[in-house]
Amino acid sequence: MAFTDLSIASKATILPILEIAEQAGISKEALELYGNFKAKINVDQLPPVEKLGKVVLVTAISPTPAGEGKSTVTVGLADAFKQLDESVAVALREPSLGPVMGVKGGATGGGFAQVLPMEDINLHFTGDIHAITSANNSLAAFLDNHLHQGNTLNIDPRRITWKRALDINDRALRQVTIGLGGPGQGLPRQDGFDITVASEIMAVLCLATSLENLKERLAQMVIGYTYDREPVTVRDLEVEGALTLLLKDAFKPNLVQTIEGTPAIIHGGPFANIAHGCNSLIATNTARRIADIVVTEAGFGADLGAEKFMHIKSRKGGFHPDAVVIVATVRALKMHGGVTKDLLSEENADAVKRGMVNLAKHVDTIRQFGIEPVVALNRFAGDGESELAVVLDWAKIEGVAIALTEVWEKGGQGGIALAKLVKQELQRPTDFHYLYKEEDLFEDKLCAIVQKVYGGAGIQLSDVAQKQLVELKKFGWDSLPICMAKTQYSLSDQPKLLGRPEGFTITIREIMPKLGAGFLVCLTGDIMTMPGLPKKPAALKMDVTNDGKAIGLF
Ligand code: ADP
Repeated sequence: MAFTDLSIASKATILPILEIAEQAGISKEALELYGNFKAKINVDQLPPVEKLGKVVLVTAISPTPAGEGKSTVTVGLADAFKQLDESVAVALREPSLGPVMGVKGGATGGGFAQVLPMEDINLHFTGDIHAITSANNSLAAFLDNHLHQGNTLNIDPRRITWKRALDINDRALRQVTIGLGGPGQGLPRQDGFDITVASEIMAVLCLATSLENLKERLAQMVIGYTYDREPVTVRDLEVEGALTLLLKDAFKPNLVQTIEGTPAIIHGGPFANIAHGCNSLIATNTARRIADIVVTEAGFGADLGAEKFMHIKSRKGGFHPDAVVIVATVRALKMHGGVTKDLLSEENADAVKRGMVNLAKHVDTIRQFGIEPVVALNRFAGDGESELAVVLDWAKIEGVAIALTEVWEKGGQGGIALAKLVKQELQRPTDFHYLYKEEDLFEDKLCAIVQKVYGGAGIQLSDVAQKQLVELKKFGWDSLPICMAKTQYSLSDQPKLLGRPEGFTITIREIMPKLGAGFLVCLTGDIMTMPGLPKKPAALKMDVTNDGKAIGLF
């Protein structure tokens, strides 16, 4: 039988989480056990530290639908550091059931570079995402109840922006009508669902610094507008306390382990195409308290997750990455070089050569932030020697640090070369700078992202977006950072424009203020905040044995 992530994970030795915690200097008192292999960390109980650990951010080239192995490389790189006797921890996002049941699979790494227990983490884990769904939908219920009970806040039901949420791809719920059936059933109005990972509550949980800060951020969330076009917030509804109560345990970061026993903190999981794409700030900072080096990941390519890691997450957290790894694969480079999915298994060095422009752009982007990236060439069994050589030769000529990485097949051992290169970068001072300042004009911030990060020509605002911008300026919200919602497949807003497109314009369809998260979501192209399932979802292969063992979980 061929190896699958699940078969490797189920044969791996898993240590009691108490042992992992002890090695990481986390006392029993600071832990809340969820069985033997998962625990939540009470951050307040951790001892103070003099210096926080350095941060290695793992990002990637523009990906294919299957993912390029960022989580795999993140885990494998951490295990390689462990093998080099470094004090290290991993910080990752929690998987959403959308991709687990849909097309991509889980988010626990792969092969011999995985976090355990992968089944639990990929399914319900410690219930954080369910808690976020509950908080999101409780707020929707409080809001509709307010309308039903007399609407003293004068909320215009046609201008409600708060939507319901569900953590599964369900296109049929994108637009719904609620409250039908007469006066006893509430006020009829148009509503819709987002996937939970796109809920503002997910972003709030990921950016909050304390329970108090979580409550304040929840209070600031705008849920709609009055008939006089004034914003209505959660504070106006007086439910921030109830929402925080629902989230009090979900806010605590989760401790698990890699196959090689490295501590892994997995917490929060916004997507990087429709949200900000990074695990929680509290998880990264907790990992920085227990280890000298923290390897963390931001979703999709450097144009999405990494850009938002820099401009949103780490800016809020008051730090920046000390090193950046860009994951590239031969198969994705071939796609950027024009090869269709059905021909990817054929060796085609020329196509790799043509596709290198995509990697070159992402290297250039990270350099603009003042960080010299290291490329991890994530090797797949089918990669041709001539194809790998194209990438390695290119890096040599361009002066880019690169390591052939085989962590999927060999675990930490397959990432030693990468870890050594990253260590060199960690020892070098960075000259970090943002590509836009928070106080820049909204249009200038957008242009900075489009021109410097995507390599595009400029921006265009739809009629709707232009009207929204006038409102945003009226309320003084335009000084917030921007969270782009854009396809992950292309540097542009058109998924089919692969490689390194130039001269394109990004159209902003809609601007959604997220005052609790503290950013403005700009929707581009056809991107949806509730994805759909493919014709043959991954769920078709899944089953469970009579004694409760998972089957077909990739
Ligand atoms: P990303 O984080 O970029 O989305 P993942 O690390 O989740 O990607 O990997 C996606 C899938 O690809 C996983 O099922 C993983 O096992 C598989 N994978 C990653 N790297 C390799 C590799 N080198 N060889 C074989 N499969 C791999």
